[in-house]
Order: sequence, then C-alpha cells, then structure tokens
Amino acid sequence: MCLNKVIEQLTQALGEENVLTEKEELAAYSFDATADIPKVVPQVVVTPTSTQQVQEVVKIAAKYKMPLYTRGSGTNLSGGTIPLNQGIVMVMVKMNKILEIDAENLTATVQPGVIIQDLNDAVAEYGLIYPPDPGTVATATMGGSVAECSGGLRGLKYGVTKHYVMGLEVVLANGKVMRCGGKTVKNVTAYDMVKLFVGSEGTLGVITEIIVKLIPAPETRKSALAVFRSLDDAAKAITGIIANKVIPATLEIMDNVTIRTVENYARVGLPTDAEAVLLIEVDGIPEVVEKEAEVVARVCRENNGELKLAETAEERDEIWQARRAALPALAQVSPTTVLEDATVPRSKIPDMLKALRHIAEKYQLTIGTFGHAGDGNLHPTILTDENNAEEMKRVHKAVDEIFEVALSLGGTLSGEHGIGIAKQKYLEKEFGEAGIEALKAIKKALDPENILNPGKILKF
Ligand SMILES: Cc1cc2nc3c(=O)[nH]c(=O)nc-3n(C[C@H](O)[C@H](O)[C@H](O)COP(=O)(O)OP(=O)(O)OC[C@H]3O[C@@H](n4cnc5c(N)ncnc54)[C@H](O)[C@@H]3O)c2cc1C
Repeated sequence: MCLNKVIEQLTQALGEENVLTEKEELAAYSFDATADIPKVVPQVVVTPTSTQQVQEVVKIAAKYKMPLYTRGSGTNLSGGTIPLNQGIVMVMVKMNKILEIDAENLTATVQPGVIIQDLNDAVAEYGLIYPPDPGTVATATMGGSVAECSGGLRGLKYGVTKHYVMGLEVVLANGKVMRCGGKTVKNVTAYDMVKLFVGSEGTLGVITEIIVKLIPAPETRKSALAVFRSLDDAAKAITGIIANKVIPATLEIMDNVTIRTVENYARVGLPTDAEAVLLIEVDGIPEVVEKEAEVVARVCRENNGELKLAETAEERDEIWQARRAALPALAQVSPTTVLEDATVPRSKIPDMLKALRHIAEKYQLTIGTFGHAGDGNLHPTILTDENNAEEMKRVHKAVDEIFEVALSLGGTLSGEHGIGIAKQKYLEKEFGEAGIEALKAIKKALDPENILNPGKILKF
C-alpha cells in the first residue's frame, strides 16, 4: 500500500507537527458525537494551517485516491465525520482566525476552525450578533456548522446557518480554489453555489473561508416558562402565539419524560406532573418586547397554561438552565442516547408528539422529547443501551417509524443535524428517484473520484 508515500508527502507539505500517525492519536478521530454508528480508525490525520495546505492535502488524496474526511470539532449527530473507508481525516481547528469584522457592511470573514461562540464574543463589542446557535455553540466550528447547516434555539425568528452565509472560499476535489458569493446584500449571479455548499456535509468541497451576515443585537429580551397539563393545549399555545403575530426568538418544548429527567438531574423546580412545558423568549426593542410578552402570556393562559415570566436575569437563567439540562439529563439515564431530529410543519407538532408516544409504547422504549417546537423541529431522544442487541432492534424499528411519520406529516428528515450516514437510508423517501439522481449528478460533477467524505449523504 502507498500509505508510507502518502504520509511522506503530507509531512513534506504540512510539516511533521501537522501530521498525526500514532495509534492513540488516530483513535481519537474514529468517532464523533453520534450514537449507534460504526467507529473506524483513520490511517492518518492532518491539521492544515492554511488554504494552500488544504489544497496540498486534497491533491495528495486525489493522486492516491485516498478518501478524505474533513472534520471540525466532531460534534455532529449524523456520523458525518466517521472515516468509513479509513484514509485521511483533515481537522480544520488550526485555521481559527477571525479575518475581519466589517461593522459597516455587517459582515464577518472567518476561517473554518473559528468556534461559533468566539465569533459571537468578538462581534458583541460592535453591538452585533451571529444568530445561529447550536447547543454546541461553545465547541462547534464555523466550518462544521456551515457544512451541516446547523440550527439552534433561535431558529424560529432568526433562521438557520444558510440564512447567514454570504460568501465562501472552497477547495474543490481537484485541489483548485473557488470563491462564491461575497459581501453584497444582493448577489444573484449564476447558480447559488453558496447555498449548495452550505449543508453539503464535506462531500462537495472543503470550506476554507466564510463570509457571514451579522445583525444588530436585540436591545432587550423577556423569557417565560409555561406549564401545561395536556399536550394538545401546549401545541395550541405554540400555534396560537404565532397566529397572534408574535415570532419569539425561542419557543422550546419539553415533554413529561424530559421534564421528570431534567428535574431529577438539575432540581430547577419543574412540575414533574406536567405533560409539557414551553420555554419562550421574545426579544427586540423594549416596547415591542413588553407587548409581545403580554400576548404570549395571554395565549398560554387561554390554553390552560400556567405562566411564569422571568422578572430578573437570574430567573431568566433558571429557565434556560432547564432547557440546557435536557440532553445531559437524558444522557445520564442510560448508556446510549439516540438523539433524533424529526421536523414537521409546526401545526403538526401535536400529531408528531402523539405518534412519538405511541411509538415508545409500541416498541417498549423510553423516548424523551424536547426541541424547537416553534419551528417544528423535535428531538425525540431514545434512552437505550447499544450492548443490548434485542433492544437495539426495537430502537432501529422505532427510528424508522419516527421518520416515516415525520415525512407523512409533510415534514423532513433533518431540521438541523444533516444526513451523514445515520439517515441516508430514508433519503429516497423524501427526494424520490429523480431527486436522488439529481443529487448524485451534483456529487459526480464536483467530486468525480468520490474522494470527499465518501459514503455520506449518498451511497455510491
Ligand atoms: C449536545 C449536542 C447538541 C447539539 N445541538 C445542536 C443544535 O442545537 N443544532 C444543530 O444544528 N446541531 C446541534 N448539534 C450538532 C452539531 O453540534 C452541529 O452540527 C455542529 O455545527 C457541527 O460542528 P462541528 O465543528 O463539530 O463539525 P463536525 O462534526 O466536525 O463536522 C460536521 C460535518 O461538516 C463537515 N465539515 C467540517 N468542517 C468542514 C469544512 N471546513 N469544510 C467542509 N466540510 C466540513 C464534516 O465532514 C461533517 O460532515 C449538537 C450536537 C451535540 C453533541
């Protein structure tokens, strides 16, 4: 095998300090944050420090037809960074410079290894924010979040990553550098290549520079916790708030399993007998926030919700501490946490929640559901043990059914976590045969030798 030659050439191009070959070092890149997927140890790991070094790596991978898996912080939940066919893992975290904050044009230009929170901290000085905020905002990279098209808690009002990416520099599979988009508010030139690369999960090119849109930070915000004895009432409150023309920055739901688990774990004072709680935040200018908070309170009460408005910053923190505890709390209950990403039109949330309860009963599983109810993006979380083969069979059947129901309700396979390897078997159900052919044609056009993140999104 030519592995020695590959390592030699990578070392020449990047320097010894950027090429990892020790067994223990390689093992650290054999998994990501996804449960219940294969672990595969790569043959070599590289940590380029410039676009030019990335080009060198891509050219070497292409020359030796070695699969190349680009990786940010490895926090994705769809198996996106597993080096399925071994080969090279390219970790982007050393390319971590904020290149420019342009407060006049409300843009920032960053390298892909910048951590999302670091960008937010840097733009805060200018009174600006970069809204996409996945739960991993303090660890995930800009490159990884652009490649996944991450969402987060503020998605309802502010959208997801694709709504903020204005321009990209990308190293293509042939090693050439392409730039698309830019700082102009309007850019309708040719195909929308920026959007094509956003969410492409490392399969079409390596993102080496990103221009993002920034927005003014909201002047103030108000948070509330609403407790419901019935799921239907909670769901009616969700649609009612929006029907009353209030778009909260955040509108989250936790079901009873999640409430009980969070309370047991974090003791934040949640009512363990409630069927559901909504955690709501409105933001903007003070007059509007006041008015919107009143509407939220009225709609919740009209739907039999008990509402607690946070009067102080500490009370606000308590509310969000409860939401932030959801996943860690569920994760400590059992050895394996299968976190799904089922997304439906928001009017179908009650149907989806009821279906999830039915699926949990049918397959005798514990499923805790929380998520971004306002945008229809739920995270049913199955608490299980991957060493229990019989139970895992039931888990797989339950997951199949979750996505069947989501699609039948007019939903989608992913609201924010991507396809990777975890959900590729369902892709044709959403795209149809013609759609899959179109996706494959795009992949083949941009990466004819199937070098970039092979085996992800599409199977070849
Ligand atoms: C506890 C927890 C909570 C989470 N909450 C959320 C949430 O609220 N919303 C949400 O959307 N996600 C969430 N996630 C998923 C994950 O954190 C996000 O998808 C994140 O944006 C991934 O960033 P990363 O740097 O870790 O990327 P990685 O996991 O390293 O990579 C993700 C994908 O991007 C590709 N990639 C990475 N860098 C590049 C690059 N420079 N060029 C091309 N391709 C690249 C990889 O090949 C891979 O396919 C959560 C994960 C966990 C573990």
